[in-house]
Amino acid sequence: MPYAWPKDTDFALWELDVLDRHCPACGRLMYICDHRYRRVHTLKGPVQLVCKLNHCPERACPGHAKTKSPELEITIAPPKWAVGWDVLCWIGHRRCSRHWSISQIQSDLWDDYGIKLSADSIARYIGYYQVMLAARQQDPESLRRHYEAIGEIILSIDGLQPEKGHETLYVVRELTGKRVWFAEPLISATADEVRRLIAQAKAWAKSLGKPVALWLSDRQDAFVTGIAAEFPDVPHRYCDNHFLRDVAKPVLEADSHAKVQMRKKVRGLRKIEQAVLKQQGVQAWERIVADDPGATAPPLNPPGPRVDAASAVVLEYCTAVRGILNDDQGGPLHPPGLRMADALDEVRASLQRNLDAKKGDSPSGNSADSLTASTAAETKCATNRSRSVNSSRKSRKLPKHSIPPREHVRTGRRSSRN
Ligand SMILES: [Zn+2]
Repeated sequence: MPYAWPKDTDFALWELDVLDRHCPACGRLMYICDHRYRRVHTLKGPVQLVCKLNHCPERACPGHAKTKSPELEITIAPPKWAVGWDVLCWIGHRRCSRHWSISQIQSDLWDDYGIKLSADSIARYIGYYQVMLAARQQDPESLRRHYEAIGEIILSIDGLQPEKGHETLYVVRELTGKRVWFAEPLISATADEVRRLIAQAKAWAKSLGKPVALWLSDRQDAFVTGIAAEFPDVPHRYCDNHFLRDVAKPVLEADSHAKVQMRKKVRGLRKIEQAVLKQQGVQAWERIVADDPGATAPPLNPPGPRVDAASAVVLEYCTAVRGILNDDQGGPLHPPGLRMADALDEVRASLQRNLDAKKGDSPSGNSADSLTASTAAETKCATNRSRSVNSSRKSRKLPKHSIPPREHVRTGRRSSRN
């Protein structure tokens, strides 16, 4: 469908003529026989192209029946496109390098450049961009230049699933030059199909004239047999990442078990919160009665919480602990269960500080201390998600004698605590 331009679009006029006016068939000087008008979006604004079409004046010449278009037209936009190359590159780059969604691309094109494109059109342009990218990636000449200074080649193959439910994409990468060589979706990934990819990699390496020093993979059967068949003398090693993940499996299993145990032990948060809230409701009602002795029934919606300091601290502890129990972040090198144990230890230490403070000699400081402790616990929770801002802001509240948790010191060091 042709692009629908709004009526009030203000186009810049670009006139294009052929650079070489000689007839390609007989060499006579051609003349302008017609004009082609085109409109395209560029990042600089909408443009109206006026393309002067030339043909040979000699009726008998084959150049008479054919018109010649200005050579520059194709460098601005390919035929039938509503956008110029610059817009195509902008879209492709946002999609392929920054992984923007189509709707994000769509809204930014509109906001920043006033270019209105449908989601379908953007998807189509992304398709064109990918085709061109793949063509450039596989261009033998650019590949040869890229590998000029490289002595040996290290190849890897892996199956990737771009999104859940998609067919697996088999990607062959070269690690010395850090370049994806090619990728193909294989529906069945039989040993024969995989071997075909490995043979293709062999042909590429041969055309570059570089020796293959090593293959890396997760050592699936099809990879092992295919590589052994095509590269009998090249070592085939386990990829670090897969190796670590496999080694870490028992660790993560044990870690997950530990998490379950900790969750079993630390429970009853809801009950504590309910008890605190209920008690507050009663207190709020008593306050109303004290203010207005004529009141006869509890209000349906209790008044906003005038929470006393101790209750607030209890509620904050509950929130912090719930955050810790629900935090599932962390890979094999930072298992979530270990993080959970550390965080719970800090909460325990914080509670202990509260208890110690109560026993000690600061009769008026109880609420301040409990607030400190709760802030510390909450900070711990906050640092699990977004480090810095919250905690450094809170650290200003800390009285001098409190000992903030480890992480607190690290994240809040730029603020002055006194
Ligand atoms: Zn001619």
